[in-house]
Amino acid sequence: MDNPFSYTAISKSKAVARLARGELVILPTETVYGLAADATNADAVLKIFATKKRPRFNPLICHCANLEMAAEIGVFGEAARVLAATFWPGPLTLVLERANGKTIPDLVTAGLNTIALRVPAHDLTTQIISDLGRPVAAPSANFSGALSATSAKTAFVALGANIPVVDGGACDRGLESTIIALSETNPILLRPGALARDEIEAVLGDKLATPGPDGPITAPGMLASHYAPRASLRLNAGAPEPGESWLGFGPEPGRPGAALNLSPTGDMAEAARNLFEYLRHLDEKSPATIAVASIPETAIGEAINDRLRRAAAPRNLG
Ligand code: AMP
Ligand code: MG
Repeated sequence: MDNPFSYTAISKSKAVARLARGELVILPTETVYGLAADATNADAVLKIFATKKRPRFNPLICHCANLEMAAEIGVFGEAARVLAATFWPGPLTLVLERANGKTIPDLVTAGLNTIALRVPAHDLTTQIISDLGRPVAAPSANFSGALSATSAKTAFVALGANIPVVDGGACDRGLESTIIALSETNPILLRPGALARDEIEAVLGDKLATPGPDGPITAPGMLASHYAPRASLRLNAGAPEPGESWLGFGPEPGRPGAALNLSPTGDMAEAARNLFEYLRHLDEKSPATIAVASIPETAIGEAINDRLRRAAAPRNLG
C-alpha cells in the first residue's frame, strides 16, 4: 500500500473467509468503521489489540447478526429484551452478564464477568456476521485514543496496516454506540452515543444513572483522553483566535482561514455525522489549536460533547 489515496476494498464473501481464517477485516457499521475479528478466536482478537495498540484492559463489543446470536453469549433479562427489540439493529450496546459456556475468550471482555453486545444496523455487516455464524469483536478502526473513522478510506488509511475494508459508504450516524449496563440493579449509561438517552429512558420508563468518577461501576475503556486529534482543542469557543482553526456549529458569519461548520443549520444528526471527519480534516493542516463552537447538550449533543471533552482532555492521562 503506502498510497494514502487508495485502499483495498473486498467483497462480503472474501471478508467472511478472512474472518473464518482468524484474520482481520475493516467493516462498515452505522456508527463508525470497525476493526473486526471472529470474537470466538482469541488469536484473532489479539490481532485487534496489537493493530490498534489498544490496552488489554479495554474490553471489546461483540457484534451479532441478531438477538438469537447475542442471547447465546449474554444473559437477557426483561429490560434487555425490550431494549433489543426496540433498538436493534441499531447504535445501542448492552452490557449484560456473560452466559455460561466458554465460546467468548476472556480477552474480549478483559476478564470481566459481563459482556458488551450489539446488532449493528448495516446490512453488509450483519450479513457477514450471519454467514460467519459467530459474533465479531469490532472496536473502531483507528489507533487507540485517536479519532474514529467514518469512511472506508479513512479507516484503511488510519490503521496503515493494509487491512482490507468492506466499503459500506459513509457512516450514517458517525458516532459510537450508546452503552448501557443492565447487569446491575439500575440501568446505567456507561457511554453516551448515537442513540439519545431520552429515547432509551422513554422505553425503560426509568432514568439512566450516570456513573460518577468514583462510582461503583467503571467502564474500563472510558479513558479521559480519547478520540484525540494531534492539535489541542479549545471548546465552547465564541470565535477563532488568530492562528486557530475553527469548527463551527449553526448559523454563523464566514470565518477566515481553516474553518468548517458541523451543521450550518444546527442539525445535531448532521453534526454527529461530520464530527470525526471534520476534526480529522482540520487536524491534517497541523494547527496548534482547533477552536470548537459550543454545541447544545440536548439529545445526541450529550454524546457529541462527550467526544469533544475527551478529545480536549490532557493526553498524558490515558
Ligand atoms: P469501543 O469499541 O472502543 O468503541 O468501546 C467499547 C467500550 O465498551 C469499551 O471502551 C468499554 O468501556 C465498553 N465495554 C465493553 N465491554 C464492557 C463491559 N463488559 N463492561 C463495561 N464496559 C464495557
Ligand atoms: Mg474507538
